[in-house]
Amino acid sequence: MDYAEHIADLVGDTPLVKLQHVTEGVECTVLVKLEYLNPGGSSKDRIAKRIIDAAEASGELRPGGTIVEPTSGNTGVGLALVAQQRGYKCVFVLPDKVGEDKIDVLRAYGAEIVMTPTSVPADSPESYYSVSDRLVREIDGAFKPNQYENPNGPRSHYETTGPEIWRDTDGRVTHFVAGVGTGGTISGTGRFLREVSEERVRIIGVDPEGSVYSGGTGRPYLVEGVGEDIWPGSYDPAVPHEIVAVDDAESFAMTRRLAREEGILVGGSSGMAVVGALRVARTLPADAVMVVLLPDGGRGYLSKIFNDSWMRSYGFSEVEEGETVADVLD
Ligand code: PMP
Repeated sequence: MDYAEHIADLVGDTPLVKLQHVTEGVECTVLVKLEYLNPGGSSKDRIAKRIIDAAEASGELRPGGTIVEPTSGNTGVGLALVAQQRGYKCVFVLPDKVGEDKIDVLRAYGAEIVMTPTSVPADSPESYYSVSDRLVREIDGAFKPNQYENPNGPRSHYETTGPEIWRDTDGRVTHFVAGVGTGGTISGTGRFLREVSEERVRIIGVDPEGSVYSGGTGRPYLVEGVGEDIWPGSYDPAVPHEIVAVDDAESFAMTRRLAREEGILVGGSSGMAVVGALRVARTLPADAVMVVLLPDGGRGYLSKIFNDSWMRSYGFSEVEEGETVADVLD
């Protein structure tokens, strides 16, 4: 019989698939790595597992302990999944701008949620950051993964994501592209691919226009999970050869095309990564092999990117109004 002992044992080993339809003007091969096929639905399952393994080994996390992290999304799901396997409690601190759907997912996995007001400065005692620090101090046996500084985040990608890409392309990958949030994915995967290829693989980061990685100051953007207004310790600026900035309108238009034209239902940061990737791919010869990492699935964004009235309310006018069956029946 072929089965896993626990769902958390199924993290990683995600497949590559070739883009076929959104690649106008591209001669090279563009492969996307589908991280939504991880058991918690995102690439963050990888870092959660590695961070918890390391905290157990170092004694920072002991049996019956509590994981406390300010996170509203994918990292929380990954942590909750591994915590469930190993008998830890989870407390996630969320800003009150986070949508109900995301909160419900974390609660469904058994996590406890603490809400904090969005409209207070970071140094206020009520802020997202202050509240999570206080909980860590006050809860007995608390451990804070701190994904923005923890070296085990990038390490998980160095140990798993990078080797998977090298193995699945038979060492033929020439370009690796990923969006940059904490920077763990690009730093860990990129470093592995540079080393194993003796500096042949080119590493391209993609971030939202306005974020620090492409020279901005942190101007607001709507794409979730990527871009920063500070430089986190989990990002190694020596790894990417190049950073490409993409705006929300292009990111969301591509996210919708990926679902309709490729059958790949992913989140907005995936659309963003593909826009940046294709911009570079158009300049490459036919024998290049580009791998683009798509961090999560699209179901968490149905009421936003995939909702026509939400898109129009932000002025994303690309939303096409083609003839529908209902029009034919009229
Ligand atoms: N996209 C989404 C949806 C994410 O949740 C994240 C993680 N914050 C990223 C992209 C970026 O990955 P990383 O933090 O490894 O840079």
